[in-house]
Amino acid sequence: MKSLSIICYLFLFPLILQNNLKAQDIDILIKNGHVFDAKNEIDGVMDVAIIGDKVFRVAKNISEAEVKKVIDASGMYVCPGLIDIHTHVFVGSRPKKFVDGSYSLSPDDFTLRAGITTVVDAGTSGWRNFPKFKEQVIEHSKTRILAFLNISGSGMTGDDQQEDIDEMDVGKAVKCIETYPDIIVGIKIGHYTGDLWTPFERASEAAKQAERPMFVECHLPQYSLKDQLDRMRPGDIITHSYEKISERSSVIGEDGLVQPLVFLAKEKGVLFDVGHGGAGFWFSEAIPALKQGLLPNSFGSDLHRFSMNSGMKDMLNIMSKYMAMGMEEKDILLRATWNPAKSIKREDLGNLSEGAVADVALISVRDGNFGFVDAGKNRITGNKKFEAELTIRAGKIVWDLNGISATPFELK
Ligand SMILES: [Zn+2]
Repeated sequence: MKSLSIICYLFLFPLILQNNLKAQDIDILIKNGHVFDAKNEIDGVMDVAIIGDKVFRVAKNISEAEVKKVIDASGMYVCPGLIDIHTHVFVGSRPKKFVDGSYSLSPDDFTLRAGITTVVDAGTSGWRNFPKFKEQVIEHSKTRILAFLNISGSGMTGDDQQEDIDEMDVGKAVKCIETYPDIIVGIKIGHYTGDLWTPFERASEAAKQAERPMFVECHLPQYSLKDQLDRMRPGDIITHSYEKISERSSVIGEDGLVQPLVFLAKEKGVLFDVGHGGAGFWFSEAIPALKQGLLPNSFGSDLHRFSMNSGMKDMLNIMSKYMAMGMEEKDILLRATWNPAKSIKREDLGNLSEGAVADVALISVRDGNFGFVDAGKNRITGNKKFEAELTIRAGKIVWDLNGISATPFELK
């Protein structure tokens, strides 16, 4: 008898509740948009209904009678909120610092307007100062902020401290992840100029123990690209994948072809993130890579004070760049939503499943004459550009470029 009542409670009650929900219970109904949800293989004109902070239903022709707010998304994509897995958002008052400083950015100022509802901070903090990052930024942002924890205890201090191997403590890093398992999605290694493999190995060990990916930012001039890729495990993520700098050999060999060792790493399961930043993206690498089949898995922007004011700008601009380079729109949207969610093992995100958190981006593709610039100030042109019309974070409208959710004004 007891088990029967448990079954009723767990299965039947929610079904009854769902079927009894009427149109007037729907808070937001997005009508007539082109829904793109790779996880659920939805790619066509549908309506999306939101109740509270959750997706209630995705279907054709949902009745709009007595719905609290109807938004017409005709001609727009309706996607899961975009996910940027490479940002630096530990903003604070310290001048010329990424850690708690002015080189990082306040996420809500730059994300919501680009359709982004989730960012991953790429190791700006480590086990020593993650709690401060959480208290100071994560808890006070509308944007969902996740983190790769730097193996270096104090993160990106920009001085000798970030290279101190004694600070790269596997046990303390893993303990920090265990304390904040819903926020920390992996371990980052980067910005180490010594000639030991110890930092890389410790980052890899911490990631292994925590069963999360290692994120390789690879400002590691002493490690060759081959050595790095060889030491990465399936599911680990390398960023700045298309950079051309003296610190690290390019993915493209001198013969103009993607190096075989790169394809071997891809086959092994290493994931390639764009990591555009100020220096991490060059057309001379990215265009041959795209033509030869080395597509990025995700469009991490490496958002920071400098990249946003140079060729990078924002993740939508990177996506538009790939459109100008010839990538199909759906392939681009996949790499901005479901792919990054899977790469950080957060399959609750990056989709519009019924019951999922209502993080939604309405995106237009604008026609016009546009220019796109890489890290070397080289320019290509294109005639289409992605633009974020409206962003919803956990059921709340947090960005509305043209006021499509607002009340039409009439002078009385
Ligand atoms: Zn970075």
